[in-house]
Amino acid sequence: MELSNQKKGTASVWAGETDRFFKGATTPPIVNSVTFAYEDLDEWHNVATGKLEGYIYSRNTNPTVRVLEEKIRVLEGAEASTAFATGMGAISNTLFALLGPGKRVVSIKDTYGGTSKIFLEFLPHYQVNVKLCETTDHEQIESEIAKGCDLIYLETPTNPTLKVVDIKRLSAAAKKVGAIVVVDNTFATPINQNPLKLGADLVVHSATKFLCGHSDAMGGLLCGKQELVEKVFRFREINGASLAPDPAYMISRGMKTLELRIERQNASALKIARHLKAHSKIIDVFYPGLESHSGHSIAKEQMSGFGGMMSFSIKGGYDEVKKFLPKLKLVHLAASLGSVSTLAGPPRTTSHVELTEEQRRILGIPESLIRYSVGIENVEDLINDLDQALASL
Ligand SMILES: *Cc1c(COP(=O)(O)O)cnc(C)c1O
Repeated sequence: MELSNQKKGTASVWAGETDRFFKGATTPPIVNSVTFAYEDLDEWHNVATGKLEGYIYSRNTNPTVRVLEEKIRVLEGAEASTAFATGMGAISNTLFALLGPGKRVVSIKDTYGGTSKIFLEFLPHYQVNVKLCETTDHEQIESEIAKGCDLIYLETPTNPTLKVVDIKRLSAAAKKVGAIVVVDNTFATPINQNPLKLGADLVVHSATKFLCGHSDAMGGLLCGKQELVEKVFRFREINGASLAPDPAYMISRGMKTLELRIERQNASALKIARHLKAHSKIIDVFYPGLESHSGHSIAKEQMSGFGGMMSFSIKGGYDEVKKFLPKLKLVHLAASLGSVSTLAGPPRTTSHVELTEEQRRILGIPESLIRYSVGIENVEDLINDLDQALASL
């Protein structure tokens, strides 16, 4: 069956699910085997040298992990894919495998906190020149790319104010100088956005979030051009940030319902965003699906749904946030995002806790901002929950 012609809802369920390693199994087994044995030395040698498909040692490849790698490859329309122990494993391995002393990378200020640390602390240590631009200033990003660079790294929509970056436009600018384009597609998921179709060369995911969808396993994924994925894979198999079979199984299992969950979360988030926007105790709502959002027109072009992530600021500052959040009944007050259950937290004490108030202001993060990751609960229940908590203020 040729999976690449199938729609996403089909590929989420079927991709990678061949019975090549357990004939007749309708669910791929968790192959918790570190090593794989051969009776024939020629066959072993052919697998070891890549002439024959097979497995040698699970730090390199594993059949259960392959199922997951196949799913993301098909969903993103990529040539190749490989998995990592975490999302940061995927991001750091990609950057360290493709960059080196004297190379230049152009990115944006609003990348995920861990990614931003790699740009500001670790890459400069290896004499990589890093330029972080204002996230939505496309002219500045283009002019920095035009000065010459080896890699551009984008993330869209961003955390926590859901800024939107034009992947097609910046990929075209990168092509002119021969730079590799990497996009973190964690917030959008392959259901809502396919960066490779917009000109990117590589896509990275924290599979810990929407792909897994249940907050019970961590993983990272990379997919895109074969030659580039192979280069990162060769780095990963040696530095050892490999994904284990158990979480790989959990994430593959979660991904079977990816389209169902994302369609639900897209619809609920839009409804909640519109409701909050009209509420007297809300100052602002950041959601790319709202016409009032600064990135709405680009989002409409490059996304097929606006996702389950949003943030909003409430009147009265951080003291009100402290009163409001514990009043919510249908949320976990916790870090992370993308689960079946709704999660909420203030960036001021979570993702952006290390910044000063002034630095948060520069990034456009109000002190009373709340990040809200919409789950798959009944949307009327979520709206009623938000209303009762707002009414108590
Ligand atoms: C969570 C996250 C990461 C890091 O993923 P981990 O699995 O926690 O290592 C990277 N990018 C984005 C956008 C994220 O939300």
